Amino acid sequence: MEYIYAVFVLLYGMVFGSFFNVVGMRTAKGQSVIRPRSSCPACRTPLTWKELVPLFSYLFLRGRCRTCGAKISFLYPATELLTGLLFSLSYLQFGFSWEWLQALVFLSLLMIVTVSDLDSMIIPNRVLLVFSLLFLVIRLADPLVPWWDSLAGALLGFSVLYLLAAVTRGGMGGGDIKLFFVLGLFLGTKKVLLTLFFASFLGTLFGLLLIALKKFRRKKPVPFAPFIGVGAWIAYLYGDRLLAWYLSTFLQ
Ligand SMILES: [Zn+2]
Repeated sequence: MEYIYAVFVLLYGMVFGSFFNVVGMRTAKGQSVIRPRSSCPACRTPLTWKELVPLFSYLFLRGRCRTCGAKISFLYPATELLTGLLFSLSYLQFGFSWEWLQALVFLSLLMIVTVSDLDSMIIPNRVLLVFSLLFLVIRLADPLVPWWDSLAGALLGFSVLYLLAAVTRGGMGGGDIKLFFVLGLFLGTKKVLLTLFFASFLGTLFGLLLIALKKFRRKKPVPFAPFIGVGAWIAYLYGDRLLAWYLSTFLQ
């Protein structure tokens, strides 16, 4: 029975993923998330419901607009599928619980900032504001131990990123700095630092891979939010266990 629910959650998750695409791509450009209806970016033909079914429309249309044949960005189906999978896997981990709901809100932020950063190299202030309010409510209802760890995490995340941005001179954007404030609010001091550790590690690996494939361009900025997203999700799920293991191994 649990797996039947997991499939339902997967399908619902793909619908949310479709919405995250809209939010991530439109708020970065200052557009409304409700109006106008979605249309093909190339020929402006409004999409019918048949073209708006998450993932399946993309597969059915073989990745091209039905009217003009323009290629549809792979980001759409990728976000839909990944959101569905993460919603479903987190259900299998947490079950129908308050903790699962928290995980879903957290995942929503990570997916939206990943989409907007990949699409336009912007992490929209409106999105960060909405989620900082949501996290504030969550942490009032379910405080970290000690309760001020949320506040300390937010300030620490912001300060460390601010210093990094000053040192690297433009390697980190203002959006990344503000994002770490919001992440710290939810995760607290230890896990916000872990997030930075994993994000930097993954970002460096990716950079080395680009150099090895000779695709690295010094002038071309790389969106950092996808790495922050993966790092934050690892820190959220495994942070406690990783820190306990680290402390017992290296600091006896
Ligand atoms: Zn078109």
